Amino acid sequence: MYKNSIKAYKKSSDLIPGGVNSPVRAFKSVNCDPVFFKRGKGSKLYDVDGNKYIDCVSSWGPLIFGHADKDTVKAINKYSKDGTSYGAPTLHETEMAKKIIEMVPSVEKVRMVNSGTEATMSAIRLARGFTGKRRIIKFAGNYHGHGDSFLIKAGSGAITLGLPDSPGVTKNTAKDTLIASFNDIKSVEKLFRSKANEIAAVIVEPVSGNMGLVLPNNGFLKALRKICSDNEALLIFDEVMTGFRLAKGGAQEIYNVTPDITTLGKVIGGGLPVGAYGGRSEIMNSLAPIGPVYQAGTLSGNPLAMQAGLSVLKKLDNKLFQKLDTISNEICVGIQKNIDEIEINAVISRIGSMMTLFFTDKKEINNYEDAMACDTDKYAKYFKHMLDMGIYLPPSQFECCFFSSVLTRDDVKKIIKSNRVALQKLV
Ligand SMILES: *Cc1c(COP(=O)(O)O)cnc(C)c1O
Repeated sequence: MYKNSIKAYKKSSDLIPGGVNSPVRAFKSVNCDPVFFKRGKGSKLYDVDGNKYIDCVSSWGPLIFGHADKDTVKAINKYSKDGTSYGAPTLHETEMAKKIIEMVPSVEKVRMVNSGTEATMSAIRLARGFTGKRRIIKFAGNYHGHGDSFLIKAGSGAITLGLPDSPGVTKNTAKDTLIASFNDIKSVEKLFRSKANEIAAVIVEPVSGNMGLVLPNNGFLKALRKICSDNEALLIFDEVMTGFRLAKGGAQEIYNVTPDITTLGKVIGGGLPVGAYGGRSEIMNSLAPIGPVYQAGTLSGNPLAMQAGLSVLKKLDNKLFQKLDTISNEICVGIQKNIDEIEINAVISRIGSMMTLFFTDKKEINNYEDAMACDTDKYAKYFKHMLDMGIYLPPSQFECCFFSSVLTRDDVKKIIKSNRVALQKLV
């Protein structure tokens, strides 16, 4: 069934470290060989053996309208005829900036980059430059890309592979990253007490999607806002995952909390490599060429990437988010029914079109410790059963499903039915 994928993986492993260009893709934590994909269309993915899958990953979030969305394809075709890059200003960038500022009210000015990693790395440099302070606070299990300062108790692939603290990060860099516990404001207060006047910024995934989906408790984000304001530290919302996925204005719109800087990625590029960071003008004006904080990029604001992203952003309205919520709710109601009837220890965490099924005997997952206590072996088996039935899930317990708006009624039914079969095999 996976003959060609297995062959492809052998070949790529000779040439690419671990055979992959991003670690979780290797399926290590789900104990099987990775699938190599050939084509995506709408809600479906097709692999090199001709197997067909309903895609519940959406390239880790970007593909809110599914694969090969016709408006995105049209934009890329149209604008590629004018050349692919100039390394000089274009009207596409102004159009993109205007759109982002309209959609995310806390952003008054915005800088485009090429990935979420670049956005967060640049955002903390800016926060340090602006405040003149050196340390940052991050939360255990949050992932902010692979910048050195963030690979300390990092989520996503880093926990999946048991590498939350990466070698190659110097002690001095690590020292400037202080770790707090998500949903535990006391852990933040304690750090502010012991390192008063040294903290440039608190960076947080307002809805944490990189230890599996963990929602903020009532008042947690508001309390972060207050403690940052009280201590003249900047609040950075890393909305690389949640921006344009949960609402037009991201998690900050839903929870009604205004950060100083926001980082964006994933959906913003419509499947092309794009990231962005923005915030109050006063802060953003610290960037070169008007301010002293340096940050640059040869391909930043690339015309194709801008137009691919705009093809998606232009279509995001409340109706779309309502539709995503309806589809995702239907899937989760069905899965919950399966869990109850089969009597398996599992909990669903969901907001909008993001969801994780945790195998645990806890009632809810609130932080990194809760997530780490989940049964990853059970998840691995569940993943493989679903894969064999043509449902493509994230290959790790510590990631989210991202549902797209093009999932059909039949897709939804098939996901629920396959989930039932898979869960039955686990008890
Ligand atoms: C994916 C992600 C990043 C990193 O983005 P890349 O484009 O993979 O570099 C950063 N922060 C969050 C919250 C993410 O989900």
